[in-house]
Amino acid sequence: MSNTPENAPRGYQIGQAWLPAPPPDPALYLVATPIGNLADVTIRALQVLAGADIVACEDTRVTRVLLDRYAIRAKTTAYHEHNATSAGPRLIRALEAGKSVALVSDAGTPLVSDPGFRLVEQALAAGIRVVPVPGPSAALAALTASGLPSDAFFFAGFLPVKAGARHSRLEALSAIPATLVFYESPRRLADALAAMADVLGADRAATVGRELTKAFEEFRRATLGELAAHYAKAGAPKGEVVICVAPPGETAAPQAGDVDALLRELGAEMPASKAAAEAARMTGLAKQDLFRRLVELKAADG
Ligand code: SAM
Repeated sequence: MSNTPENAPRGYQIGQAWLPAPPPDPALYLVATPIGNLADVTIRALQVLAGADIVACEDTRVTRVLLDRYAIRAKTTAYHEHNATSAGPRLIRALEAGKSVALVSDAGTPLVSDPGFRLVEQALAAGIRVVPVPGPSAALAALTASGLPSDAFFFAGFLPVKAGARHSRLEALSAIPATLVFYESPRRLADALAAMADVLGADRAATVGRELTKAFEEFRRATLGELAAHYAKAGAPKGEVVICVAPPGETAAPQAGDVDALLRELGAEMPASKAAAEAARMTGLAKQDLFRRLVELKAADG
């Protein structure tokens, strides 16, 4: 553990303002941290990180950058998949002794494709309170800006690396009626997209979100087939990526008859321009074209 004196004043700094952070109640706090932009940290996260007796980090050097940015002099210790067997029980003993422990991963929300699940299990088994301190996660950042349906989504994490296992996993996911959200390494992006196009369908709409919250943030929205072709040609992109894939059935271009029926239905319920905007949102077609078509339909229907 780093050796910050027990009685050092606990607090954090934002700009010129130094704010005290009293120790939180004894508990295991699961603290979400930024996925790139260090300003994406909640005030509560800073309070808990500054006030906790111990900050358990996936990598203390990575978390130190965030702590330094807010002048937090926390007592840090490592908790990751390679030392969980020894570090877990040590943290549980500290919690049982009435200490507060904040668990963080390198970026985003701990336990989301990151260490922490075993520690939460152990804490709950020991009767210790577990408290989420929510904040950034690459999955939700990508989903919300993907342009794909967000009413139901399935977080699929990382796909298996081996082609056979990846294929089986994709088959198991293919009929889920929700937007699928995957984490992937940039090196495997092109292969993963090709496998998705193969198993889920080349026409399914998808979005690759890259370098979210960072200077070179980018969203590429197309079909799985187009995205697979793009990255096969362009090679591995720089930075981190999330892939979002539309639910089955969302993708095929809407048939003219379907669009007319949708426009008639919406046009009966709301003004034409609003109906066209709503239909554009639902179909991905251009609003002006839909507006023109609705005017034609209204004229024809009398
Ligand atoms: N716990 C983290 C969270 O809540 O987002 C995820 C950790 S997981 C080990 C790392 C993966 O998250 C990366 O491979 C990438 O797929 C995704 N990721 C994390 N930060 C990202 C960013 N800034 N832009 C795009 N993807 C990101």
